[in-house]
Amino acid sequence: MKRFSLLLLALIIFLAVLQGCQTSSNEIPNLSVIKEQIKNYHKSGKYNADLKTIIKKAKDEFNRIKPKENSLIIFDIDETALSNYQFGLDYDFGYNEDIWTEWVDSKKATAISEVKSLYDMLIEKGFKVVFLTGRNRNHYDATKENLISEGYSKFDTLITRKMDALKTTAVDYKSKERKQLVENGYVIEGTIGDQLSDLEGPYHGIQVKLPNYHYMVK
Ligand SMILES: [Mg+2]
Repeated sequence: MKRFSLLLLALIIFLAVLQGCQTSSNEIPNLSVIKEQIKNYHKSGKYNADLKTIIKKAKDEFNRIKPKENSLIIFDIDETALSNYQFGLDYDFGYNEDIWTEWVDSKKATAISEVKSLYDMLIEKGFKVVFLTGRNRNHYDATKENLISEGYSKFDTLITRKMDALKTTAVDYKSKERKQLVENGYVIEGTIGDQLSDLEGPYHGIQVKLPNYHYMVK
């Protein structure tokens, strides 16, 4: 009888632990914990290691292409060509239009060196480059200056978002702009971005998806 009671007790404890595990796995993660995880992802070098792996694969793929005169690669800007990670840290990963405009105008975004090395290789090989960004038209001048000061000085066009495109999704806006580029005679061989919305839709060529865990653009 005593043995049966002990077994019953063990079973109850086991079920209680199992229940606890299930509850904790269903909990919504705490925002502060996620912010720390993102900081550790960058601080630990994992972000750079992931970038290195992705860019190496991209270089291998683009190296197999012999560019024609109109071969084009599309680069996104934020968290692709340029990093705004410092902006994220400064504002605890918060966002509003005013502080974002102030940051863009400061032109303090820095080149992401792995991406810059891919850009350099593509320019060297004879590909054309177009920057296609979700930044709006008011940010055109500051964005252009920031790109050039960070070494992205050779590109055919910088496309910013017109006011009438602000209400469309990023996928629609970027797809339409890519379609226009194709109609203008370019052959899009590849698209590089940190968001799926940079890469989805028609006319993208080889898709290179970079990591970004601190915001999502649909
Ligand atoms: Mg981006």
